[in-house]
Amino acid sequence: MSDQRPVVLVTRRLPEAVEARLQRDYRAVLNGTDALYDPATLPQHCEGADAVLPCPTDRLDAAVIAALPASVKAIATFSVGYDHIDLAAAKARGIIVTNTPDVLTAATADIAMLLILAAARGAHSAEALLRMGGWQAWAPTGQLGLEVTGKRLGIFGMGRIGRAVAKRARGFDMAIHYTDTNPVAAEDEAGAVYHASAEAMLPHCDVLSLHCPLTPETRRFLNAERIALLPERAVVVNTARGGIVDDEALIAALKSGRLAAAGLDVYDGEPRFHQGYLALENAVLLPHIGSATVETRNAMGFTALDNLDAVFAGREPPNRVA
Ligand code: NAP
Repeated sequence: MSDQRPVVLVTRRLPEAVEARLQRDYRAVLNGTDALYDPATLPQHCEGADAVLPCPTDRLDAAVIAALPASVKAIATFSVGYDHIDLAAAKARGIIVTNTPDVLTAATADIAMLLILAAARGAHSAEALLRMGGWQAWAPTGQLGLEVTGKRLGIFGMGRIGRAVAKRARGFDMAIHYTDTNPVAAEDEAGAVYHASAEAMLPHCDVLSLHCPLTPETRRFLNAERIALLPERAVVVNTARGGIVDDEALIAALKSGRLAAAGLDVYDGEPRFHQGYLALENAVLLPHIGSATVETRNAMGFTALDNLDAVFAGREPPNRVA
């Protein structure tokens, strides 16, 4: 009897348990080498596939989606962000798009908190000093950072991750300010101060943490004009998407000391990124590891598969974005 299971093209190597479930329930076309697909060739690789399971490293723009074979019914991305997928083009072709919210919230909020602390305290440069043999002795005036306790944290985008960061920061006695497209429910606000615009919030942010999606409205949100609204020596953290920041403006503000420090997990055009960051001692730089825990990456894979299972059972997938 022929194998009737749907064919799923998986663009990257996934955690072992996720690939095992994929192979159990689908005719999975896996990527054993984990090499990145050239977006232009993705439609050819999808020949005969019923669904694609891509990652944020794949660019499914309008041209790629238009070229996908008619057999493709769903795109189940292994990420909560979907700025790498042209949703309108997918909708126009009747292709369902799903993402993996919630399961990566805690891990990503942890990395935001880690960056807030590391940037404020200069953990990376202190560690580099020690590793390079430059540590002479404990010094009353050495390696002085900024205290986060009692400071104001501004959250741009009080969604799942923004709220989880606020929760963590309350544990450090930080006062929470936020802006979003709308105020959140009182229980989610938990005493945070809502500002109707970013411009109204920025002067209150000793630390600014970005948690909105990358959209045409948020692209280059943090530019020179908005940096100028932050208090002197503020700290900026970005675990959302690199394109939300104007790199030239952020680098200039870090270089001049207008901003005390920055912590970045994501970069415009990554994995290439503005090389100006490398020369800055006051920038903590991580290579997009927000969701990178064993538990979370497994959960992201299982969530993507839950979505595909629903699609192929004729049910509404739990995390449909288009
Ligand atoms: P979410 O729950 O949708 O939260 C995003 C929030 O931003 C929503 O409340 C949204 O409001 C708000 N927002 C949208 N546009 C805005 C604007 N122009 N101004 C102000 N607020 C705006 O998403 P999430 O799960 O927290 O994830 C947030 C982002 O984090 C993702 O999109 C992804 O890019 C990034 N991320 C990064 C990593 C990493 O590894 N570093 C991991 C996970 C996620 P509305 O709902 O009203 O639009």
